[in-house]
Amino acid sequence: MKTTILFFIFSGLFFFFQSCNDSNTVENSTKKPPLKKNLVKGKKKKKEAKENLPKILIDSLLINHLTGQCAYEKDTCFKLVPKHATTRNIHLQKETCDMFLKMKSAAEKDSVFLKINSGARNFNVQKYIWENKWDGKKRLRDGSSAKKIKNPKERSLKLLLYTAMPGTSRHHWGTEIDLYHVNGNKYYEKGKGLKEYEWLLKNAHKYGFHQVYSNKEKDNRTGYQEEKWHWSYMPISNLYHKKYKQLISYKDISGFKGASTAKEIKAIENYVNGINADYP
Ligand SMILES: [Zn+2]
Repeated sequence: MKTTILFFIFSGLFFFFQSCNDSNTVENSTKKPPLKKNLVKGKKKKKEAKENLPKILIDSLLINHLTGQCAYEKDTCFKLVPKHATTRNIHLQKETCDMFLKMKSAAEKDSVFLKINSGARNFNVQKYIWENKWDGKKRLRDGSSAKKIKNPKERSLKLLLYTAMPGTSRHHWGTEIDLYHVNGNKYYEKGKGLKEYEWLLKNAHKYGFHQVYSNKEKDNRTGYQEEKWHWSYMPISNLYHKKYKQLISYKDISGFKGASTAKEIKAIENYVNGINADYP
């Protein structure tokens, strides 16, 4: 059973990465077709390569995506979100972006206007966000300064209420969106924000988007506080999460202030895996 599940995950990701690289081969399609003999040779070579390479190639590509070691602007899996749908320059996985745009158009017909405030964030961007809070340069959501907390474990836990450690953020994957909001969850409790949130609860799943950081008590999950602005494109993020559990260990989570606390506070078990249990 386990082997069958692993096979499907592996196959799914293999074809996913194949399609990511399609854009590199477009210009070749206009060239003359090769002779039949060469085609057979080519097929044989391709088969040999397929047998030897995919697992290493795909896993190494994936580890980069999973931990945010990416330059999204150069990566063919990603694209820039059109200006009318964002508040700044934001990249997302192509499919995530296309499905968001479809959802946005549908929402507009119901007078709900969605904009993305954050999308794919690589390791260095997440490190900047994390360390600014770690050093007290940026205040936390409750207005306090994390610098005052002397115990590193306690300081990490305080940051982790809303901020992911670099290397553990779902935003690395390009499958997550933070919608534009003011005032955190409170924005979604009345008026325009409530209307937007109710629309998303009713319709977002039709486009593949789900609120993974849902109400902690109600959904009996660990990790970050509820985030009504954070929506995940599950057809891809589910595969990434499964692969994260297989491929990433604490040795991959390093290179930022407070990284040594990751294992002790179980950053993978409690935070990466601490999503709404409807989406294991
Ligand atoms: Zn987010």
